[in-house]
Amino acid sequence: DVVVSAYANPSEREAEASVRPKRLEEFIAQHRVRDQLDLLLKGALGRGTPPDHILLSGPPGLGKTTLANIVAAELGVGIRTTSGPVIERSGDLAAILTSLSEGDVLFIDEIHRIARPAEELLYSAMEDFRVDVVVGKGPGATAIPLDVEPFTLVGATTRSGLLTGPMRDRFGFVAHLDFYDAADLEALIRRSAGIFGIPITDDGAAEIARRSRGTPRIANRLLRRVRDFAEVRADGVITHDVAKGALKVYDVDDLGLDRLDKAVVHALVTSFRGGPVGLSTLAVAVGEQPDTVEEVCEPFLVRAGLLARTPRGRVATEAAWRHLGKTPPGPILP
Ligand code: ATP
Repeated sequence: DVVVSAYANPSEREAEASVRPKRLEEFIAQHRVRDQLDLLLKGALGRGTPPDHILLSGPPGLGKTTLANIVAAELGVGIRTTSGPVIERSGDLAAILTSLSEGDVLFIDEIHRIARPAEELLYSAMEDFRVDVVVGKGPGATAIPLDVEPFTLVGATTRSGLLTGPMRDRFGFVAHLDFYDAADLEALIRRSAGIFGIPITDDGAAEIARRSRGTPRIANRLLRRVRDFAEVRADGVITHDVAKGALKVYDVDDLGLDRLDKAVVHALVTSFRGGPVGLSTLAVAVGEQPDTVEEVCEPFLVRAGLLARTPRGRVATEAAWRHLGKTPPGPILP
Protein backbone atom coordinates (compact mmCIF):
# COMPACT_ATOMS: atom_id res chain seq x y z
CA ASP A 1 0.00 0.00 0.00
CA VAL A 2 3.08 2.15 0.14
CA VAL A 3 2.37 3.24 -3.41
CA VAL A 4 -0.54 5.45 -2.31
CA SER A 5 0.86 6.69 1.00
CA ALA A 6 1.14 10.48 1.17
CA TYR A 7 4.26 10.19 3.32
CA ALA A 8 7.60 10.19 1.54
CA ASN A 9 9.67 7.04 1.71
CA PRO A 10 13.32 8.02 2.12
CA SER A 11 14.40 6.37 -1.13
CA GLU A 12 12.21 8.59 -3.24
CA ARG A 13 13.61 11.91 -2.04
CA GLU A 14 16.01 11.95 -4.98
CA ALA A 15 13.31 11.28 -7.56
CA GLU A 16 11.26 14.01 -5.90
CA ALA A 17 14.07 16.51 -5.97
CA SER A 18 14.35 16.31 -9.75
CA VAL A 19 10.73 17.42 -10.26
CA ARG A 20 10.50 19.85 -7.35
CA PRO A 21 9.51 23.33 -8.60
CA LYS A 22 12.22 25.86 -7.78
CA ARG A 23 10.31 29.11 -8.25
CA LEU A 24 6.84 30.30 -7.31
CA GLU A 25 5.73 30.51 -10.94
CA GLU A 26 6.46 26.80 -11.45
CA PHE A 27 4.41 25.82 -8.42
CA ILE A 28 1.18 24.35 -9.72
CA ALA A 29 -2.27 25.34 -8.38
CA GLN A 30 -2.90 26.60 -4.79
CA HIS A 31 -3.47 29.98 -6.45
CA ARG A 32 -4.54 31.82 -3.34
CA VAL A 33 -1.51 30.77 -1.31
CA ARG A 34 0.75 31.50 -4.27
CA ASP A 35 -0.70 34.94 -4.76
CA GLN A 36 -0.44 35.84 -1.08
CA LEU A 37 3.13 34.56 -0.86
CA ASP A 38 4.04 36.50 -3.98
CA LEU A 39 2.90 39.74 -2.31
CA LEU A 40 4.59 38.91 0.97
CA LEU A 41 7.92 38.14 -0.68
CA LYS A 42 7.89 41.04 -3.14
CA GLY A 43 6.95 43.44 -0.33
CA ALA A 44 9.85 42.22 1.77
CA LEU A 45 12.27 42.33 -1.16
CA GLY A 46 11.22 45.88 -1.93
CA ARG A 47 11.85 46.98 1.64
CA GLY A 48 15.04 44.98 1.96
CA THR A 49 13.90 43.30 5.18
CA PRO A 50 13.02 39.65 5.88
CA PRO A 51 9.29 38.90 5.52
CA ASP A 52 7.09 37.85 8.43
CA HIS A 53 7.45 34.30 9.67
CA ILE A 54 5.43 31.84 7.59
CA LEU A 55 3.35 28.91 8.79
CA LEU A 56 2.24 26.31 6.25
CA SER A 57 -0.29 23.72 7.27
CA GLY A 58 -1.95 20.86 5.46
CA PRO A 59 -1.79 17.10 4.92
CA PRO A 60 1.52 15.47 3.88
CA GLY A 61 2.76 15.60 0.31
CA LEU A 62 0.98 18.79 -0.77
CA GLY A 63 4.09 20.94 -1.16
CA LYS A 64 5.08 22.48 2.18
CA THR A 65 8.77 21.60 1.86
CA THR A 66 8.69 22.73 -1.75
CA LEU A 67 7.23 26.11 -0.78
CA ALA A 68 9.81 26.62 1.97
CA ASN A 69 12.59 26.15 -0.58
CA ILE A 70 10.80 28.44 -3.01
CA VAL A 71 10.60 31.17 -0.35
CA ALA A 72 14.39 31.03 0.07
CA ALA A 73 14.97 30.98 -3.70
CA GLU A 74 12.66 33.95 -4.32
CA LEU A 75 14.36 35.93 -1.56
CA GLY A 76 17.78 34.87 -2.83
CA VAL A 77 18.86 33.63 0.60
CA GLY A 78 20.09 30.39 2.11
CA ILE A 79 17.89 27.80 3.77
CA ARG A 80 18.49 25.60 6.82
CA THR A 81 16.19 22.64 7.22
CA THR A 82 15.36 20.76 10.38
CA SER A 83 12.31 19.19 11.97
CA GLY A 84 10.47 19.39 15.26
CA PRO A 85 11.18 15.85 16.49
CA VAL A 86 14.98 16.16 16.07
CA ILE A 87 15.15 19.31 18.19
CA GLU A 88 15.14 17.70 21.60
CA ARG A 89 17.11 20.22 23.65
CA SER A 90 16.97 23.98 23.44
CA GLY A 91 20.75 23.94 22.94
CA ASP A 92 20.24 22.11 19.62
CA LEU A 93 18.02 24.90 18.44
CA ALA A 94 20.27 27.67 19.80
CA ALA A 95 23.16 26.21 17.79
CA ILE A 96 21.12 26.31 14.60
CA LEU A 97 19.76 29.80 15.23
CA THR A 98 23.11 31.38 16.00
CA SER A 99 24.65 29.87 12.86
CA LEU A 100 22.12 31.51 10.51
CA SER A 101 23.33 34.20 8.13
CA GLU A 102 21.41 37.43 7.74
CA GLY A 103 18.09 36.92 5.98
CA ASP A 104 18.28 33.11 5.88
CA VAL A 105 15.20 30.92 5.89
CA LEU A 106 14.98 28.42 8.71
CA PHE A 107 12.58 25.63 7.74
CA ILE A 108 11.20 23.55 10.62
CA ASP A 109 9.08 20.64 9.43
CA GLU A 110 6.58 19.12 11.88
CA ILE A 111 6.95 22.18 14.03
CA HIS A 112 4.13 21.03 16.30
CA ARG A 113 6.44 18.29 17.61
CA ILE A 114 9.16 20.60 18.88
CA ALA A 115 10.05 20.08 22.58
CA ARG A 116 8.65 22.68 24.99
CA PRO A 117 11.92 24.34 26.17
CA ALA A 118 13.07 24.67 22.56
CA GLU A 119 9.73 26.17 21.63
CA GLU A 120 10.16 28.88 24.23
CA LEU A 121 13.61 29.67 22.95
CA LEU A 122 12.14 29.95 19.47
CA TYR A 123 9.65 32.62 20.66
CA SER A 124 12.34 35.11 21.59
CA ALA A 125 14.31 34.32 18.45
CA MET A 126 11.22 34.94 16.30
CA GLU A 127 10.28 38.14 18.10
CA ASP A 128 13.49 39.86 19.04
CA PHE A 129 16.15 37.93 17.12
CA ARG A 130 17.91 36.96 20.30
CA VAL A 131 18.06 33.91 22.52
CA ASP A 132 19.05 33.34 26.12
CA VAL A 133 21.17 30.26 26.49
CA VAL A 134 21.18 28.95 30.05
CA VAL A 135 24.51 27.62 31.22
CA GLY A 136 24.78 25.51 34.37
CA LYS A 137 22.10 24.21 36.69
CA GLY A 138 20.37 25.31 39.88
CA PRO A 139 21.27 28.56 41.69
CA GLY A 140 24.52 28.90 39.76
CA ALA A 141 22.79 28.86 36.36
CA THR A 142 23.30 31.94 34.24
CA ALA A 143 21.54 33.06 31.09
CA ILE A 144 23.81 34.22 28.31
CA PRO A 145 22.04 36.40 25.76
CA LEU A 146 23.08 35.71 22.17
CA ASP A 147 22.14 37.66 19.06
CA VAL A 148 20.54 35.94 16.11
CA GLU A 149 20.70 37.41 12.60
CA PRO A 150 17.30 38.50 11.28
CA PHE A 151 15.82 35.40 9.64
CA THR A 152 12.52 34.06 8.36
CA LEU A 153 11.07 31.01 10.02
CA VAL A 154 9.01 28.77 7.77
CA GLY A 155 7.15 26.26 9.89
CA ALA A 156 5.26 23.31 8.44
CA THR A 157 2.66 21.23 10.19
CA THR A 158 0.06 18.66 9.29
CA ARG A 159 -1.77 19.50 12.51
CA SER A 160 -2.21 23.24 12.92
CA GLY A 161 -4.65 22.42 15.72
CA LEU A 162 -1.82 21.00 17.81
CA LEU A 163 0.24 24.16 17.68
CA THR A 164 0.20 26.17 20.90
CA GLY A 165 -1.54 29.56 20.79
CA PRO A 166 1.63 31.58 21.51
CA MET A 167 3.43 29.74 18.72
CA ARG A 168 0.71 30.36 16.15
CA ASP A 169 0.49 34.04 17.13
CA ARG A 170 4.12 34.59 16.21
CA PHE A 171 3.57 33.80 12.55
CA GLY A 172 2.61 36.86 10.54
CA PHE A 173 1.59 34.75 7.56
CA VAL A 174 -0.41 31.54 7.85
CA ALA A 175 -1.45 29.50 4.84
CA HIS A 176 -3.32 26.25 4.55
CA LEU A 177 -2.65 23.92 1.64
CA ASP A 178 -5.60 21.93 0.42
CA PHE A 179 -5.87 18.80 -1.72
CA TYR A 180 -5.38 19.38 -5.45
CA ASP A 181 -8.15 18.74 -7.91
CA ALA A 182 -7.73 16.30 -10.77
CA ALA A 183 -7.12 19.00 -13.41
CA ASP A 184 -4.24 20.46 -11.38
CA LEU A 185 -2.70 17.06 -10.80
CA GLU A 186 -3.01 16.32 -14.50
CA ALA A 187 -0.97 19.44 -15.24
CA LEU A 188 1.54 18.42 -12.59
CA ILE A 189 1.87 14.92 -14.08
CA ARG A 190 2.40 16.32 -17.57
CA ARG A 191 5.08 18.64 -16.22
CA SER A 192 6.88 15.80 -14.41
CA ALA A 193 6.58 13.51 -17.44
CA GLY A 194 8.20 16.26 -19.49
CA ILE A 195 11.12 16.48 -17.07
CA PHE A 196 11.59 12.68 -17.00
CA GLY A 197 11.12 12.47 -20.79
CA ILE A 198 8.17 10.09 -20.51
CA PRO A 199 5.71 10.14 -23.43
CA ILE A 200 2.18 10.43 -22.04
CA THR A 201 -1.25 11.11 -23.54
CA ASP A 202 -3.74 13.53 -21.97
CA ASP A 203 -6.12 10.76 -20.95
CA GLY A 204 -3.19 8.78 -19.53
CA ALA A 205 -2.27 11.73 -17.33
CA ALA A 206 -5.93 12.22 -16.39
CA GLU A 207 -6.26 8.62 -15.26
CA ILE A 208 -3.23 8.86 -12.97
CA ALA A 209 -4.38 12.26 -11.67
CA ARG A 210 -7.83 10.98 -10.76
CA ARG A 211 -6.33 8.27 -8.57
CA SER A 212 -3.63 10.28 -6.81
CA ARG A 213 -5.59 11.16 -3.66
CA GLY A 214 -5.37 14.89 -4.42
CA THR A 215 -1.66 14.72 -3.55
CA PRO A 216 1.31 15.77 -5.74
CA ARG A 217 3.68 13.33 -4.03
CA ILE A 218 1.38 10.40 -4.88
CA ALA A 219 0.84 11.68 -8.43
CA ASN A 220 4.59 11.78 -9.06
CA ARG A 221 5.07 8.35 -7.51
CA LEU A 222 2.26 6.75 -9.52
CA LEU A 223 3.73 8.32 -12.64
CA ARG A 224 7.04 6.55 -11.96
CA ARG A 225 5.29 3.23 -11.36
CA VAL A 226 3.17 3.56 -14.49
CA ARG A 227 6.29 4.40 -16.46
CA ASP A 228 7.80 1.05 -15.44
CA PHE A 229 4.71 -0.72 -16.67
CA ALA A 230 4.67 1.26 -19.92
CA GLU A 231 8.30 0.38 -20.64
CA VAL A 232 8.12 -3.29 -19.63
CA ARG A 233 4.64 -4.33 -20.74
CA ALA A 234 3.85 -1.78 -23.47
CA ASP A 235 5.71 0.41 -25.97
CA GLY A 236 6.80 3.04 -23.44
CA VAL A 237 3.95 5.48 -24.02
CA ILE A 238 1.58 6.12 -21.11
CA THR A 239 -1.90 5.93 -22.59
CA HIS A 240 -5.19 5.63 -20.74
CA ASP A 241 -5.13 1.82 -21.07
CA VAL A 242 -1.51 1.56 -19.96
CA ALA A 243 -2.27 3.71 -16.90
CA LYS A 244 -5.31 1.62 -16.05
CA GLY A 245 -3.40 -1.63 -16.45
CA ALA A 246 -0.51 -0.43 -14.30
CA LEU A 247 -2.71 0.94 -11.52
CA LYS A 248 -4.50 -2.41 -11.45
CA VAL A 249 -1.20 -4.21 -10.91
CA TYR A 250 -0.42 -1.87 -8.00
CA ASP A 251 -3.92 -2.34 -6.61
CA VAL A 252 -4.60 1.39 -6.56
CA ASP A 253 -8.16 2.13 -5.53
CA ASP A 254 -10.47 3.79 -8.08
CA LEU A 255 -10.65 6.88 -5.88
CA GLY A 256 -7.00 6.68 -4.83
CA LEU A 257 -7.82 5.80 -1.21
CA ASP A 258 -4.88 4.73 0.93
CA ARG A 259 -4.80 2.06 3.63
CA LEU A 260 -6.12 4.29 6.40
CA ASP A 261 -8.82 5.85 4.22
CA LYS A 262 -10.05 2.39 3.32
CA ALA A 263 -9.97 1.22 6.92
CA VAL A 264 -11.98 4.23 8.06
CA VAL A 265 -14.61 3.85 5.36
CA HIS A 266 -14.80 0.13 6.04
CA ALA A 267 -15.17 0.58 9.80
CA LEU A 268 -17.80 3.31 9.40
CA VAL A 269 -19.91 1.23 7.07
CA THR A 270 -19.51 -2.25 8.52
CA SER A 271 -18.68 -1.86 12.22
CA PHE A 272 -20.83 1.19 12.88
CA ARG A 273 -23.54 0.65 10.23
CA GLY A 274 -22.81 4.03 8.69
CA GLY A 275 -22.57 5.98 11.97
CA PRO A 276 -22.83 8.46 13.49
CA VAL A 277 -19.76 7.56 15.49
CA GLY A 278 -17.39 9.70 17.54
CA LEU A 279 -13.86 10.43 16.32
CA SER A 280 -12.06 8.61 19.14
CA THR A 281 -14.19 5.47 18.80
CA LEU A 282 -13.55 5.46 15.06
CA ALA A 283 -9.81 5.95 15.62
CA VAL A 284 -9.64 3.01 18.04
CA ALA A 285 -11.48 0.84 15.51
CA VAL A 286 -8.81 1.50 12.86
CA GLY A 287 -5.90 1.46 15.33
CA GLU A 288 -4.78 5.04 14.68
CA GLN A 289 -4.32 8.25 16.69
CA PRO A 290 -7.49 10.39 16.62
CA ASP A 291 -5.57 13.41 15.33
CA THR A 292 -4.12 11.43 12.41
CA VAL A 293 -7.61 10.33 11.46
CA GLU A 294 -8.89 13.87 11.87
CA GLU A 295 -6.13 15.79 10.11
CA VAL A 296 -4.72 13.41 7.51
CA CYS A 297 -7.53 11.06 6.57
CA GLU A 298 -10.83 12.84 7.14
CA PRO A 299 -10.14 15.97 5.08
CA PHE A 300 -9.64 13.74 2.07
CA LEU A 301 -12.66 11.53 2.75
CA VAL A 302 -14.86 14.60 3.22
CA ARG A 303 -13.52 16.05 0.01
CA ALA A 304 -14.10 12.76 -1.82
CA GLY A 305 -17.70 12.81 -0.57
CA LEU A 306 -17.37 9.58 1.42
CA LEU A 307 -17.59 10.91 4.96
CA ALA A 308 -19.61 13.67 6.59
CA ARG A 309 -18.94 15.33 9.92
CA THR A 310 -22.17 15.95 11.82
CA PRO A 311 -22.76 17.30 15.33
CA ARG A 312 -23.49 13.72 16.43
CA GLY A 313 -20.37 12.21 14.89
CA ARG A 314 -18.92 10.88 11.66
CA VAL A 315 -21.32 9.46 9.09
CA ALA A 316 -20.71 7.37 5.97
CA THR A 317 -22.33 8.94 2.91
CA GLU A 318 -24.28 6.99 0.36
CA ALA A 319 -21.21 7.12 -1.89
CA ALA A 320 -19.20 5.36 0.82
CA TRP A 321 -21.68 2.47 0.94
CA ARG A 322 -21.66 2.23 -2.84
CA HIS A 323 -17.87 2.39 -2.94
CA LEU A 324 -17.84 -0.81 -0.87
CA GLY A 325 -20.45 -2.32 -3.17
CA LYS A 326 -23.18 -2.11 -0.51
CA THR A 327 -26.61 -0.52 -0.37
CA PRO A 328 -27.28 1.89 2.50
CA PRO A 329 -29.88 0.44 4.90
CA GLY A 330 -32.10 3.53 4.86
CA PRO A 331 -32.02 7.27 4.32
CA ILE A 332 -28.65 8.75 5.22
CA LEU A 333 -28.56 11.51 7.79
CA PRO A 334 -27.55 14.91 6.39
P1 ATP B 1 5.93 16.32 3.66
O1 ATP B 1 5.63 17.28 4.76
O2 ATP B 1 5.33 14.97 3.81
O3 ATP B 1 7.37 16.31 3.22
P2 ATP B 1 5.24 18.30 1.78
O4 ATP B 1 3.87 18.91 1.89
O5 ATP B 1 6.38 19.04 2.33
O6 ATP B 1 5.15 16.89 2.41
P3 ATP B 1 6.71 18.26 -0.68
O7 ATP B 1 7.85 17.40 -0.26
O8 ATP B 1 6.91 19.72 -0.79
O9 ATP B 1 5.46 17.96 0.25
O10 ATP B 1 6.12 17.78 -2.08
C1 ATP B 1 6.07 16.44 -2.45
C2 ATP B 1 6.37 16.29 -3.92
O11 ATP B 1 5.31 16.86 -4.67
C3 ATP B 1 7.64 16.98 -4.38
O12 ATP B 1 8.32 16.14 -5.27
C4 ATP B 1 7.18 18.19 -5.13
O13 ATP B 1 7.98 18.37 -6.27
C5 ATP B 1 5.80 17.85 -5.58
N1 ATP B 1 4.92 19.01 -5.51
C6 ATP B 1 4.26 19.42 -4.42
N2 ATP B 1 3.51 20.50 -4.68
C7 ATP B 1 3.71 20.79 -5.97
C8 ATP B 1 3.19 21.81 -6.85
N3 ATP B 1 2.29 22.70 -6.44
N4 ATP B 1 3.62 21.81 -8.13
C9 ATP B 1 4.49 20.89 -8.56
N5 ATP B 1 4.99 19.90 -7.79
C10 ATP B 1 4.62 19.85 -6.51
